[in-house]
Amino acid sequence: MSNQLEKLKNSIKKEYVESFEQDLMKSSGFVPVDKRQNNFYVIISKSNLKNKENIAAIIKEKYSGLTAQFIPLEQNEFDEIFENVNSKNNSEERKVDVQQKETASGASQQGELSAEDMLVGIGWITKEQLQECNQQAVKRDVPLDAILFEKELLSSDKIASYLQKKYGLKPISKQDIKVDKSILKLLPDDFIEKKKLIILSIETGNKLGVAMINPKDQYTIREISLSTGRSPNVYALPYHVYEAYLKEYLIQKRIDQSAKETERIIASIEEETAQYVDEDNLWAQVEKELQDASGNVARFVHKIITDSIDAKASDIHIEPRLGYYVVRIRQDGILKKILDIPGTIEQAVITRFKVLAKMNIAEHRRPQDGTFSIRYNDRMYDFRINTLPVSGKEKVVIRILAPAVSLKAAGEKMIIAGAADDDIQKIHDMVQSPNGIILTSGPTGSGKTTTLYTILKALNKEDVNITTIEDPVEIKLEGINQSQVNAKADITFASCMRAILRQDPDIILVGEIRDFETLETAISAALTGHLVLSTVHTNSAAATITRLIEMGAKDYLVSSTLTGVIAQRLVRRLCDSCKESYYPSEEEVKHISNNPKVQEELLKTKMYKKKGCKECGFLGYTGRLGIYEVMPITREIKKLIAQGAHDIEIEEVAVAAGMKTLKSACLNHIIEGRTTTDEFIRVLGYANE
Ligand SMILES: [Zn+2]
Repeated sequence: MSNQLEKLKNSIKKEYVESFEQDLMKSSGFVPVDKRQNNFYVIISKSNLKNKENIAAIIKEKYSGLTAQFIPLEQNEFDEIFENVNSKNNSEERKVDVQQKETASGASQQGELSAEDMLVGIGWITKEQLQECNQQAVKRDVPLDAILFEKELLSSDKIASYLQKKYGLKPISKQDIKVDKSILKLLPDDFIEKKKLIILSIETGNKLGVAMINPKDQYTIREISLSTGRSPNVYALPYHVYEAYLKEYLIQKRIDQSAKETERIIASIEEETAQYVDEDNLWAQVEKELQDASGNVARFVHKIITDSIDAKASDIHIEPRLGYYVVRIRQDGILKKILDIPGTIEQAVITRFKVLAKMNIAEHRRPQDGTFSIRYNDRMYDFRINTLPVSGKEKVVIRILAPAVSLKAAGEKMIIAGAADDDIQKIHDMVQSPNGIILTSGPTGSGKTTTLYTILKALNKEDVNITTIEDPVEIKLEGINQSQVNAKADITFASCMRAILRQDPDIILVGEIRDFETLETAISAALTGHLVLSTVHTNSAAATITRLIEMGAKDYLVSSTLTGVIAQRLVRRLCDSCKESYYPSEEEVKHISNNPKVQEELLKTKMYKKKGCKECGFLGYTGRLGIYEVMPITREIKKLIAQGAHDIEIEEVAVAAGMKTLKSACLNHIIEGRTTTDEFIRVLGYANE
């Protein structure tokens, strides 16, 4: 310590230091020194000078008539003095007063365990864990409970007991928070965010319920009281609760801002385009847009795309209406309108999309397609876009392709959402065979490709060579050779596969088998020791087999190469926060089963229907759920195929061997409360059909 600093330290009067609460000095960042005449001297760090007025007010409150004078120090000098003064302060106080209250840093009272020691004492965590978590907490500047929760060392209940012990205040839980805009307005947003607190509610006696990450921060408590005119009733705030709140609160704020931003951009584009009324000028503007990626139209288009990514949409539809366009996005398989594009700017917006995808902007009468990529949130997103002339305008559909997926990180365990454990086991057994053909079947958008990718994930190891042929490449996979079909260049599934077979792959994924040529190549690949995965457009597992034979494959070749078929569909998953239970009517039960015994059971089964709440955007559903019909090709089924059996016969044998049909898999989801009878009928039709 320098001489100067030493002098300063020695002139600090203990009585003044003790006259302030240590928490208050710490949170406000000052150390009182001495009083001379009408001045009260305090030490402050240079970085804290903006807080001068607050500190002056605190001094004035305690010593009216004195004016605060500041001695600014470098941060490290200030810290040194602060530590020095307060540790001395503590140890001396302890000698005289055993009842000294717990300090902000969590130092223990004599004879009683600190909250942290309690954690170790009752065996919730080890001493080493506590030490490690403490270090991380300091490093990341978060409270200890944030790390304990994140590492899953303590449950939320245990976190609550810890905070109760630490602060002697009741901790709040997620359920205690209700975001009420009128209450939020009591304090400015930046104050709430900076001080890490949540305003809970107005309580009786002009009190204000406030939960705080640092509930001992007297300075902030005082400030709340001054600016709201209510006296704060303080609760401890677990960090994970605060984070969850912040997420929801910030999301709501961002949605509000986003809507305003859209309005603003549309207004400014309208203003700009108002000058270009005739066709010639319009093209001049288009030229300008081509050059200008930072213009309003470009920003508007970018925003449509990024909002859709945020909403986890799979497609964006920009469709002409009379005099304007609408933008709809497909979320969980359902189209949802997000905004209107006024007629005055539609041309500029459509053109911008075409510019992005390097399409011919002068061509309006022919369909076009193209691709483009955008970096967003540190990830590259790829898009396929196509235009279609409809009633003199152009309809644009943009498919959002998922960003590259790392297959290396995945373990061997397959995770297939909605599949029962025994189904996953069956699929697992199927793919153990080093050669053969495994097919997934279902209509477009039934999740066939996702299932194949999941299987690939489980098979992706250093020592296997996986190659895919897709149309188009929908998900980029790390560590896998992906090629794309290109009909214009005469690169078809079949020709591509023949080229690939010369490169000795172990596993080949073919996007789709839709003609005999591809099927024939797949069969010969399977016969020469390769595992082939592909998809077929059929309605059931059994129908897939007969479809292959209809395509022209010899039945004995199908029977000897086919390893298994997985038929699948996607149904919407009920929102757990709002679904409502009920008992079904007789008629409803008949819609989902044609077995009288099952019907009777179902009448007594509690089912759920959709309602809608904030969690699910008032849709009643969140996300989707697969239903699967997994058919391993057993010896018996092979025999049936070779005999040219009908698919009904094949299905009966498979069911007898334990296969669940799509309908029974969906019925299971209904009974378990995961989806509705409406979804059953929408996706699978009536049971008796
Ligand atoms: Zn809901």
